[in-house]
Amino acid sequence: MLLANATLATLNPPMLRSGHLVVEGDRIQSVLDTLPSDPSDEAVDCTGKLIIPGNVCAHTHLYSALARGMPGPRAQPANFLEILQLIWWRLDRALDEPGIRASALVGALDAVHAGTTTLVDHHASPNTILGSLDMLADGLESVGVRAVLCYEVTDRDGRARRDQGLQENDRFLSGKRRDLIRGNIGAHASFTLEDDSLSALAELARHHETGVHIHVAEAASDEEDSLRRSGRRTASRLADAGIFNRDSIAAHGVHLDASELALIQANGSWLVHNCRSNMNNSVGFAPVAGFGNRAALGTDGIDGDMFAESRTAFFRSREADLSTPAEAFAHLLAGGASLVAPYFGSPLGRIEAGALADLVVLNYDPPTDLHAANLAWHWMFGLTAGHVERVMVGGTWILKDGEIVGVDEEKVRAEARREATRLWRRMDEF
Ligand SMILES: [Zn+2]
Repeated sequence: MLLANATLATLNPPMLRSGHLVVEGDRIQSVLDTLPSDPSDEAVDCTGKLIIPGNVCAHTHLYSALARGMPGPRAQPANFLEILQLIWWRLDRALDEPGIRASALVGALDAVHAGTTTLVDHHASPNTILGSLDMLADGLESVGVRAVLCYEVTDRDGRARRDQGLQENDRFLSGKRRDLIRGNIGAHASFTLEDDSLSALAELARHHETGVHIHVAEAASDEEDSLRRSGRRTASRLADAGIFNRDSIAAHGVHLDASELALIQANGSWLVHNCRSNMNNSVGFAPVAGFGNRAALGTDGIDGDMFAESRTAFFRSREADLSTPAEAFAHLLAGGASLVAPYFGSPLGRIEAGALADLVVLNYDPPTDLHAANLAWHWMFGLTAGHVERVMVGGTWILKDGEIVGVDEEKVRAEARREATRLWRRMDEF
């Protein structure tokens, strides 16, 4: 397949050039300066279009897709723990198979419309644990989006459900591998995990040679709990249990101190900033400038829109520090592809021969000059999900002219609305 006459751009390294892309199978085969004289391939004329690698959401919860606009909690939450108790732990307990399937489908649709081609999901459904990761995978696969999935293990619902959570991660990682879906080991957070559960998680990650995806120091209460339990700060407790390796993902990190950041970085684990979620939950401002090179952005389930997430993260940091460059958040966003690439054993987030062909075609006709050196500033001040016209994952078009290929979107959204109404009613039982 030939994508002709495009402007090609990547955020990290900052690159912008005109050229023609040849895609063969699931990869970029070559980037050409001149059009082949006899283009026998299927050709798409991309004159006036900007082609970028697909955005990666490095921490999300697809089940939140059914939460948009839901009725408020019975009482006003006063802190982060009460937000979980009064909202999210009631919602995830009410999830059953039709709800999980609907959330994956509609969440994937929204992500693809926003130019997000990979989702790193963290799933919980304590009353439908076994098989839940395949329910998500089925939906994601039918839309054609790439994903890394895990089940959030926790002690908050007792030993039997903790064991089922471990079993679900193990089962999913041991099963038949799907082209676009990978897994890792999910863990809720230090404050809902006993020492022996942390050991079991680390052991399972070692066994499957993968990382642990966990919320770390999202609120100050996670640090207080860890100090109470172990006399150590959260990152130190988790590191001692063997949770952090080079594929591990620490989400939020709002209350990490300098020694904890250094510890996570020394283990080579990823830190994921979820700016809009942190703002929404009033948990504090993450020390994102100290997150280091292995860092990325996530939406924490707010939506699948990394244009909106990166833009908000930039402006929130800018509010606190006028010297914040747009490039810092462009690099952070691009970090997601580097996080995910080892899971697929191939380069992602690049426009070069051999990289996986996860590409987004943007209809962006800028009012000012656009070049490699100001691309990050165009990104923060100009580019939005509204510019997304086409999306390709692994060499296959999954969005054309703003419509998802091979999925009846109207039907999926109608079904999601039905399931959301049922889910909100079921929440009253929990
Ligand atoms: Zn989260």
